[in-house]
Amino acid sequence: MKQARAHVARLELSAAQVAVLDGQAHTARALWNLLHEYFTFRQDRYATLKECDEAIRAARREIAWMGRLPAQAAQAVLKTYRQAWANFYNSDHPAKRPTFKARLRSRPAVDVPQARDLRVKRINRRWGAVNLPKAGRVRFRWTKDLPGITKGGPAGRITGARLVKDAFGWQIVFRTETMAATVMAAHPGPTVGIDRGITVALALSDESVREHGPWLTSGKREHLRRLEKKSARQRAAHTPDQPVSHRLTRTYDQMARLRATAKRRAVDWQHQTTTELADTFSVVVVEDLKITNMLRSAKGTIEQPGRKVRQKAGLNRAITGEAWGRTVTLLEYKTRDRGGRVVKVPTPGTSQTCHRCGHRDPACRDGTRFSCAAPTCGWTGHADTNAAINIRNAAGTVVSGRGDLGTARSAKRQPPRAPLSGYATGQSPAFSWGGVQSPCVARNDLPDQG
Ligand SMILES: [Zn+2]
Repeated sequence: MKQARAHVARLELSAAQVAVLDGQAHTARALWNLLHEYFTFRQDRYATLKECDEAIRAARREIAWMGRLPAQAAQAVLKTYRQAWANFYNSDHPAKRPTFKARLRSRPAVDVPQARDLRVKRINRRWGAVNLPKAGRVRFRWTKDLPGITKGGPAGRITGARLVKDAFGWQIVFRTETMAATVMAAHPGPTVGIDRGITVALALSDESVREHGPWLTSGKREHLRRLEKKSARQRAAHTPDQPVSHRLTRTYDQMARLRATAKRRAVDWQHQTTTELADTFSVVVVEDLKITNMLRSAKGTIEQPGRKVRQKAGLNRAITGEAWGRTVTLLEYKTRDRGGRVVKVPTPGTSQTCHRCGHRDPACRDGTRFSCAAPTCGWTGHADTNAAINIRNAAGTVVSGRGDLGTARSAKRQPPRAPLSGYATGQSPAFSWGGVQSPCVARNDLPDQG
């Protein structure tokens, strides 16, 4: 079984090489904008792939600076652009309609679609070397064995790379394809439900929590706050239709570096935490983001006005926004690697309902405490733990109904048909596998097939 993964490494570039890559990235962005113009300017029909390809070739012949971008990278822009439309028309994908890319708001990136151009080699323990088109041989930080490069490294190959620039400079993202064992032993661990608390910290149904400190030290937070005020002052002094001042640009850069530091720490914490969770638990039940995030934000204003809103303000808001989705993505592939899985469930009212008796009342929850108001129950405890147990129980019917708890089977896969074939054809043509709970019951009722 092939597994597609990515590995990010920091590039060590000279000032001249940075200028080359910056130029390529700006050209790639300009090409995207030209493509978008060309693709959408007719109201009645979109340009075909062939027409787009010819337009790119013509642009490379006629516009001198277009030649800064390697031909393969230009083709990759077209491919990414087509994919952006495919994502937009895919109802399961959250992507919005492709738009023009603004100079300051878009992330600089250049694709190297062909792995053989890269000629990756390990130089020593800490450094590797890679060929970048038109920039030459470049060193990168070797933090993890890449497949198919070194002896004793993982089996597989590098299929391409993408160069991406963030607040700390250029990085290379290798696309890799590793070979994984097809048959995997079932994960022996228990099932757990996870609720995201008021911050990103996670509450588990086994009454433990996974917490973290602030992503920035108090000094850096204060620095960021001052920079935000400073940038507001500089923006106010800015004359419309004039270029943005170098001072304002520098303030933006400083803010971007602080935010990037915070994001790196958040991602690091998420990686460590999700690895530990995937090691420990076989089935991880989480709330289905698509369904619950609307409910949650509305609840935040009616049930507890001001409280959650305040805590989500500022830096935390930007990071929490994407953090839960990333946590689930990491959990999905890490549990799959270990023979476990993630189950997503719709969870309306999990924070208001008592997990023990099912009594539902918004008044039960007071901040982080949950006190059940039902006279016969009266359970008290951490509100997020209560919600996490509700989430685990919400999946309980689905998981046990499948009768395959703890195996490596995907949540989306159909139940096995083989044992039923003789039974279904002879006696019960109306029997349906559509119900989730029914197979478990029906399997117990099977006559001996001897
Ligand atoms: Zn109760």
